[in-house]
Amino acid sequence: MSSHHEIPSYLTPSEIGPWGVYLEQIDRVTPYLGSLARWVETLKRPKRILIVDVPIERDDGTIAHFEGYRVQHNTSRGPGKGGVRFHQDVTLSEVMALSAWMTVKNAAVNVPYGGAKGGIRVDPKTLSQGELQRMTRRYTSEINIIIGPNKDIPAPDVNTNEQIMAWMMDTYSMNQGSTASGVVTGKPISLGGSLGRHEATGRGVFVVGCEAAAKLGLAIVGARVAVQGFGNVGGVAARLFAEAGAKVVAVQDHAASIVCETGLDVPALQAHVKQHGSVAGFKGAEVIADGARFWEVECDILVPAALEQQITEANANKIRAKLILEGANGPTTPAADDILHDRGVLVVPDVIANAGGVTVSYFEWVQDFSSFFWTEEEINLRLTRIMREAFAAVWQLAQDKKVSLRTAAFIVACTRVLQAREMRGLYP
Ligand code: GLU
Repeated sequence: MSSHHEIPSYLTPSEIGPWGVYLEQIDRVTPYLGSLARWVETLKRPKRILIVDVPIERDDGTIAHFEGYRVQHNTSRGPGKGGVRFHQDVTLSEVMALSAWMTVKNAAVNVPYGGAKGGIRVDPKTLSQGELQRMTRRYTSEINIIIGPNKDIPAPDVNTNEQIMAWMMDTYSMNQGSTASGVVTGKPISLGGSLGRHEATGRGVFVVGCEAAAKLGLAIVGARVAVQGFGNVGGVAARLFAEAGAKVVAVQDHAASIVCETGLDVPALQAHVKQHGSVAGFKGAEVIADGARFWEVECDILVPAALEQQITEANANKIRAKLILEGANGPTTPAADDILHDRGVLVVPDVIANAGGVTVSYFEWVQDFSSFFWTEEEINLRLTRIMREAFAAVWQLAQDKKVSLRTAAFIVACTRVLQAREMRGLYP
């Protein structure tokens, strides 16, 4: 990544990783920020970083230690907000970038939050349920000092789910002495979760995908869709596209890549993944032995819905899709962005495409505060409206300024964040 960026002393140049991608994106938007550019350095430094040791007693009596993080990138527009990720490759650079993308995302769809993110470097598949619970509770206790319904509100992300949110809510509440349902979102419905939250990110990808396809004159009925990642984002998006008449022709996950020319049976694939933990071994498809070839699959719509830095200089030229919907955070590097732009491939950036999750998290948080719960229809309607409006505004700005949708989304978002920053003023 570009070496001209100032690297914080707590990251070595080799660790710059996703944070370097984010810094490059900020450099690209800066010329469009007018006088607010005076404040842009704010966006290049996370407000607060907490690194915690998370020790647990393993089932066999040994003690294991994991490294945990919570980064609050910005709180100019409201409390920190963003998920918690459990993954063996979690690094500080990654959590920093993910927290910053939350700041941009929350501002892009105009929910009243700053940006934050957390994570633990662990492969949760290596833990028993008991170990997973102890690790989650110890991590929550360690970050207890900086989270809270009005301070910073965690949520699910890669390898975390409503059970983990329930444990986090309980741990925070026990430490506090009273039940605080608004401290995390993505909770089970029975504990103050919101209807529609589980599906919200995938649904948002689908809604924005339909809007973008319409701009391209691409019909959803019969469209060929390829999806990387078949979890809570990719799986739901695939199902909604299939229900709308599209053909899901290829899926790649952490274990395998599969294709089916006539279109995969998505509900059957979801059932398979639920049982076996991955798409590997699914009967109704052929295997793509070389995973790198997934990117060359003939398709109209490509949905990267797994991890960062998947679409790079190495594969951007081979992608056949006309439309890319970033279900994941940070799946495309800036160099790949340029290649796709030159080739006329439309990229709907993460900060718009996957903002449905945090949007319904916002609804959940509002419902928890008022202890009054909405119907699923109402949630989905409000979600759809916010996603469509955010897409339309960003599309229009991209046309006016002749910039990519990513730069347009960053202009909208960074302007909102820095206006708030400027109006609040520097303390003291
Ligand atoms: N982890 C999700 C994201 O990356 C959701 C965050 C939230 O709901 O706070 O947007």
